[in-house]
Amino acid sequence: MKVVVLGAGVIGVTHAYYLAKAGHEVTVIDRQAAAAMETSHANAGQISPGYSAPWAAPGIPVKAMKWLTQKHAPLKLHPQMDITMWKWMVQMLANCSEAAYAVNKERMMRLAEYSRDCFIDLRAELGIRYNDRQQGTLQMFRTEQQVAASKKDIEVLERCNVPYEVLDMDACIAKEPALARVRNKFVGGLRLPGDETGDCFEFTQKLATLTEGLGVKYLFNTDIKALQQRDGRISAVQTSQGAIEADAFVVAMGSYSPFLLADVGVKVPVYPVKGYSLTVPITNADAAPVSTVMDETYKVAITRFEDRIRVAGTAELSGYNLELREPRRETIAMVVSDVFPDGGDVSQAEFWTGLRPMTPDGTPIVGKTGIANLFINTGHGTLGWTMSCGSGKLLADIISQTKTDIDPTGLDVTRYPQ
Ligand SMILES: Cc1cc2nc3c(=O)[nH]c(=O)nc-3n(C[C@H](O)[C@H](O)[C@H](O)COP(=O)(O)OP(=O)(O)OC[C@H]3O[C@@H](n4cnc5c(N)ncnc54)[C@H](O)[C@@H]3O)c2cc1C
Repeated sequence: MKVVVLGAGVIGVTHAYYLAKAGHEVTVIDRQAAAAMETSHANAGQISPGYSAPWAAPGIPVKAMKWLTQKHAPLKLHPQMDITMWKWMVQMLANCSEAAYAVNKERMMRLAEYSRDCFIDLRAELGIRYNDRQQGTLQMFRTEQQVAASKKDIEVLERCNVPYEVLDMDACIAKEPALARVRNKFVGGLRLPGDETGDCFEFTQKLATLTEGLGVKYLFNTDIKALQQRDGRISAVQTSQGAIEADAFVVAMGSYSPFLLADVGVKVPVYPVKGYSLTVPITNADAAPVSTVMDETYKVAITRFEDRIRVAGTAELSGYNLELREPRRETIAMVVSDVFPDGGDVSQAEFWTGLRPMTPDGTPIVGKTGIANLFINTGHGTLGWTMSCGSGKLLADIISQTKTDIDPTGLDVTRYPQ
């Protein structure tokens, strides 16, 4: 079957890999000159099934009110005259109940755990390397109050059979020796040994090259404009290079997916939640992290690549604006300098921003639509790389009409009113 994948971020490229492996003739279209040039470009570098949880959680509305008044808060709101944003926020608040959280968390864990297994298989099969490390992630607590609050997360980890380690400061330092320099700032940590780390951009680019070897064609520098319908099906996608016909179409355009889909009557409540990162050259490897260290106070993740430190965080609601705001840089620079003061040269860091394609319930949208040959793979929010392989393989199986390895119930767009 001829399948066109719209979008060459980590979601589109991993999906193209599984489609090509299943024997389909695949074309991937993107407006950028190469793969992973938008949100998949410089994320926090975590493959973290253990932390797959919706942001919409009990207690979040109260925390959010407090964060809005703090200088270095993890959440920033730039009120817009944008009805979509306000509707999305209302939907998100409606998902903060215990009951909704349990449903959403189960869906995300189902997909993320599966994705981790797909990742391991893909890596073994292709021998692909991407500054990857398999050394877990460590969430660091500055207060006993945070340690006490983590007990709720631990209950969830136990229910989902996710391995974890509760560590005192000596044990944290044994895993992350550079923390010895700042031991008085923290009281302990929670480690998820099954999590992995790496450079999502390098992963996606290398995978795109490997998929070309499987026959996948990439049409870069090509704007996707509209889907053309005929007899209740999608007949072609209209692009800046002309119309492209296929048997099936997959929308994987991240935060921009809703516009294209709305034109053919498919409503997806995906909204951009902006995040920022700094990529810092390492000046003293012994003073840098070994894997990912997350500072719970600021919700900032600090990840080790070979010769760089990636530090990322902030959830900003400000529409599709890609402005690099200096106060956000100050916050993440402050955190990396506080936790790993001698690790890198922050003055030489690259500053970046990306728009997380977020659903109000945290779960991505993966599956069929009401139009027989139109499929969606988007809305992966904070954990798109983590869930990429699982989403890609699941949807490839759905398109190929073969038995899926996991239950797809609750993952497609039918969970929202159409
Ligand atoms: C600061 C930050 C930190 C993060 N940290 C992590 C992490 O540690 N682990 C993790 O798993 N996830 C993380 N994420 C989330 C993850 O990066 C995203 O979920 C993921 O990159 C989304 O991938 P995507 O392919 O859906 O979107 P994108 O990468 O944005 O890809 C969409 C593609 O569609 C193309 N496109 C859009 N519109 C058009 C058009 N009209 N015409 C042509 N092409 C178009 C774009 O050019 C783009 O290439 C983080 C995100 C941010 C912002």
